[in-house]
Amino acid sequence: MPVDSSGKLVIVSGPSGAGKTTVMRGVFRQSALPLVASVSATTRAARPDEVDGIDYHFLTEEEFDARRKRGDFLECFELFGRGYWYGTLQSEVTTGLEAGKWVVLEIDVQGALAVMQRYADAVSIFVRPSSIEELQRRLRNRGTETDEAIQRRLQQANRELALADRYRYQVINDDIDQAVREICDILTQESEADRDAR
Ligand code: 5GP
Repeated sequence: MPVDSSGKLVIVSGPSGAGKTTVMRGVFRQSALPLVASVSATTRAARPDEVDGIDYHFLTEEEFDARRKRGDFLECFELFGRGYWYGTLQSEVTTGLEAGKWVVLEIDVQGALAVMQRYADAVSIFVRPSSIEELQRRLRNRGTETDEAIQRRLQQANRELALADRYRYQVINDDIDQAVREICDILTQESEADRDAR
């Protein structure tokens, strides 16, 4: 349930490979607002550089399913059609908002639309690559995925791009520093608008 506090939800989506994670790392460093990342749960395996409890809560399918049945998730979906689940834990959101934090959700479009329905005042930002070709190049350079996985991610990207106009803001990530600045400015403006409304 939405809570009455000065905290706010920030939803950030964008195709995998659009540079969303890198940009948001910059935003966390530079924004003056009390940002906190919501740590999602997933059933996919951790990548070599990922840490349980920081990048994700890595759960087994059984653990995820049990938490889903218990109603622990604000939203959860099976992504990429290959049996990996991702979900936002309601506790991550509530704890942050109650502490007056700006809780940042980096989630896919389906999840974002579900959260927007529950939290109508959430600030939603879609981070997009300049083109699908650029996205393909970035996914290949990342070198962590097979060709098949890259193709799946590109198809998913096209589905996500089709829903970009459901977001309050769209930011093109051609230049990381500029995208970071744009998002910091958006958040500052939202914070000032909130303050004026009070
Ligand atoms: P990756 O496996 O590359 O970390 O993430 C794949 C996709 O899952 C990304 O588009 C990311 O935004 C999305 N994702 C991460 N956490 C969540 C979540 O809690 N809910 C939903 N719906 N999507 C998520």
